[in-house]
Amino acid sequence: MTSIQALRGTRDILPEETPLWQQIEATARDILQRAAYREIRPPMIEQTELFARGIGEATDVVGKEMYTFTDRGERSITLRPEITAGLVRSVIEHKLIAQGGVQRLWHVGPAFRYERPQAGRQRQFHQLDVELIGSGAPRADAEVIALAATLLTTLGLKSLTLDINSVGNGSDRQRYREALIAFLTPHRADLDADSQDRLERNPLRVLDSKDATTQAIVQDAPSLLDYLSEDSQRHFDQVQQCLSDLDIPYQLNPRLVRGLDYYTHTAFEIQSADLGAQATVCGGGRYDGLVSQLGGPETPAIGWAIGLERLTLLLKQLQTQASKLMDVYVVSRGDAAERAALRIAQDLRQTGLAVEMDLSGAAFGKQFKRADRSGAVACVILGDSEADQGTAQLKWLATGEQVELSQAALLETADQIKATAIALRTGP
Ligand code: ATP
Ligand code: MG
Repeated sequence: MTSIQALRGTRDILPEETPLWQQIEATARDILQRAAYREIRPPMIEQTELFARGIGEATDVVGKEMYTFTDRGERSITLRPEITAGLVRSVIEHKLIAQGGVQRLWHVGPAFRYERPQAGRQRQFHQLDVELIGSGAPRADAEVIALAATLLTTLGLKSLTLDINSVGNGSDRQRYREALIAFLTPHRADLDADSQDRLERNPLRVLDSKDATTQAIVQDAPSLLDYLSEDSQRHFDQVQQCLSDLDIPYQLNPRLVRGLDYYTHTAFEIQSADLGAQATVCGGGRYDGLVSQLGGPETPAIGWAIGLERLTLLLKQLQTQASKLMDVYVVSRGDAAERAALRIAQDLRQTGLAVEMDLSGAAFGKQFKRADRSGAVACVILGDSEADQGTAQLKWLATGEQVELSQAALLETADQIKATAIALRTGP
């Protein structure tokens, strides 16, 4: 029989990779918690209409990429293609925003888009999503952008660039839209097919077409920044001032857009020079119109999403050697010794150490090889004579030095083992 394989565009995250995912999640949780963000866990399926309204029919995500099906009750259901819409639905449904209050929320989990799979682009992928709902202050924009920058740099990433733009308010964009259509229409025949289609439906999106000819044409297009009202310009100036105050470097990119009516003011992306074609690791922006678009009260909001597959690709390049997390490897041979090993492994874990026990019953030589590969700094050895005398051998794997200790004394070396492990892992 042929075996069954994972669906195209989906991947198993295998045990050797999960430490990296856990490290990202733990770092994010810590940074977000200390900035007063709270975790929320919305469902992965929603009514299709939520995304049609919340992302917009004219986008690729809704128009071409959604996993939509009819359930047994004849309802149209969609696997979430991103996290913001469901999260905003939840906030409205549970009335989480009191008049004048703010909600700072985060969520991490899978999202689904029917796209052509390639490095950094999958059909089931993961996003870390952060939203600040209820504040229109430029400081709120700076706060969420700073969180993304802090997270990525804390994880050790370098060669990142932050692009920012302002798409203004609805009427700024209306005036710009007309100017853009006037500029693009004479070039219509030279635009790629998608962009020709967008010219009527969603012309701002033509600006971020990946087609080379279209890119060359839009180089000379009018700039959105020339169409900002005084208020919009002031907001954008203040966001930039805040970023400078926080020493966060950025560059203006007038072609960075979010194409829908409820996106307002700040749009931003963080790219990595090390990611090739799928360079954007974080995308976000302000969406002051979305909460009301989804039936809630007029509420300003801003947020971002980091694609975790792209983030792990970057971090793997940094960590050529996967971090091994074991402190102690316990080897044993003979009935009494094996029973003693079970208890010693357990007792050592109680002290806070990470301990792996060899279960093979194989010759000591084979067990020692596995001890070396485990990444542990110390090996505990139990044979018949140690089991008889209530002792154990403690071997330091880096030097080969070995001592015999009572089993009680062995437990007292836990602090020394931990300190050695930390020193070896962090290096000089
Ligand atoms: P792109 O232009 O690369 O398709 P996007 O504009 O569709 O990105 P967003 O909707 O802003 O992306 O999603 C935020 C982040 O989620 C992206 O910056 C990216 O890191 C990640 N992402 C989006 N689609 C995928 C996918 N199919 N596979 C893996 N990661 C993805
Ligand atoms: Mg996309």
